[in-house]
Amino acid sequence: KVFRIAIDGPSASGKSTISKYLSEILAIDYLDTGAMYRAITFYLLENGYSLTDENEIEKGIKKIILKYDNNNIIINNKILKDELRTEVVTKNVSLISSYSSVRSKLVNIQREIAKKNSIILDGRDIGTVVLPNAEYKFFLVADPEVRARRRLKDKNSRLNMTFDEIVEDIKRRDYLDSTRAISPLKKAEDAIVIDSSKLTINEVVENILKSIRG
Ligand code: C5P
Repeated sequence: KVFRIAIDGPSASGKSTISKYLSEILAIDYLDTGAMYRAITFYLLENGYSLTDENEIEKGIKKIILKYDNNNIIINNKILKDELRTEVVTKNVSLISSYSSVRSKLVNIQREIAKKNSIILDGRDIGTVVLPNAEYKFFLVADPEVRARRRLKDKNSRLNMTFDEIVEDIKRRDYLDSTRAISPLKKAEDAIVIDSSKLTINEVVENILKSIRG
């Protein structure tokens, strides 16, 4: 039987690490929706859009063909990987993800992908907006300092920032993501909260597996 797992939470709360790990254990697909918002942001920056011009952006994103294949995000035939983790993308992605035209495009694609097979989606609005009927919902949280420490250790994050700057950036994105008008970061009423501040990756995964397997 097909089932969907929604994993939401603030930035650097461990969603993608946990989701990847879970997808291997359960042998199901995994979709990193944050990477999709990052891909759109990268495209708009690359093509010289003014990121505050919502009308231009609405036109611009119509030209984007975004595909998801084998855990790769492909925009107009170009596979994006490291480009998605740069500082400039990280700085601007919360603004771009606050635009309704961007969100409706990506939410539609995410729902299409989630129809096919059992899958884990990680993001901010999966349990509330993208898949309100997901069979399993989790909300991962952790203290900002713990998240900053993890981000500092993460080789893939490619950030040229100090610890304090990362803490500030995490708090800034938490604020923007949870106060925006459309689909703010919010726990779904029926989501299970897991605070990973004092847990290892394995412990979080064990927790999730326990509630899935009952
Ligand atoms: O998860 P990640 O940190 O890569 O997400 C980058 C940004 O994309 C978030 O800070 C948020 O602004 C946006 N996002 C979103 N909705 C999602 C996933 C990510 O608005 N479902």
